[in-house]
Amino acid sequence: MSKAPIVFGPLRSRRFGWSLGIDLSGAIKQCNFDCIYCELAKAKPIDRMYTILPLEMIVQAVQEALANCPVRLDVLTTTANGEPTLYPHLLDLICALKPLTPPHTQTLILSNGSLFGKPEVQRALHHYDIVKFSLDATLSPVFKKIDRPSKNLCLESILEGILDFANQYSGMLVAEVLVVQGVNDAPEHIQALVSFLQQVKNLARVDLSTIDRPPSYKVQPTSHAQLLQLATHFENLPLSLPSRTTPPQMPHLHLTPSAFLELLKRRPLSVEESLHYMPKSALDDLLAHHAIILRKVGLVDFYYAS
Ligand code: SF4
Repeated sequence: MSKAPIVFGPLRSRRFGWSLGIDLSGAIKQCNFDCIYCELAKAKPIDRMYTILPLEMIVQAVQEALANCPVRLDVLTTTANGEPTLYPHLLDLICALKPLTPPHTQTLILSNGSLFGKPEVQRALHHYDIVKFSLDATLSPVFKKIDRPSKNLCLESILEGILDFANQYSGMLVAEVLVVQGVNDAPEHIQALVSFLQQVKNLARVDLSTIDRPPSYKVQPTSHAQLLQLATHFENLPLSLPSRTTPPQMPHLHLTPSAFLELLKRRPLSVEESLHYMPKSALDDLLAHHAIILRKVGLVDFYYAS
């Protein structure tokens, strides 16, 4: 059984505020996509989880983390080192989490949307306050190139599943479109994607973004100017262009070095963001002792676990 921590954070999410994350995959990536921009390592897509964390273990970890949470949480986020809807006990999990969730905190799931057509997945998703799905392409060749899906997935069925789920869902539905330079940024492709999103009922927000963390494949982000240009295609949609800037009122947490290193194992953190978790002197100390590595990605400096 995986020894990786199940709960991580709290982290300040650019889009959802203070978030406590629940990782359903354990130490290894388990996803039915292998997106070229994924911040996790490349991995062959799978159709079902092979390492399945026991439900009771997850619930207990969440209970403990909530009892010791140092901030007022905005969201309790179900995610994965991969795709959380592959977890076979998702309905039981969300039903167990709901009574534990503080009244001011919303339940959120981050998904790639590929299994929204499955009745058992839909039953679980209906219990979440916020469902966020990513959608990078609605044309098959572009979809295969950017998301590198399992060969058992069919884009047409995925799109039907999203529409079907959206027709019935009463919570906050958020779509995320991530644009990769030279892959899914052609205006005709973006227009096709927009035409699909315009059919999705009850869409509360569309986040348009580009790569801002080190990707698993050698791909490039689009420029901010191009992103703004592409944004003009999103007519009649609640478009949001998230910014990396952290609000000035964001509190500082002063995590222990080991807690900070656990966060880094999950994803690289920008220096700007890291300063909200540890003072500069402590980060310099970890760097001097080679516990972390500093790397520049575009214009942004990131810390990595060494
Ligand atoms: S769906 Fe998410 S976890 Fe899976 S490969 Fe894509 S970015 Fe990575």
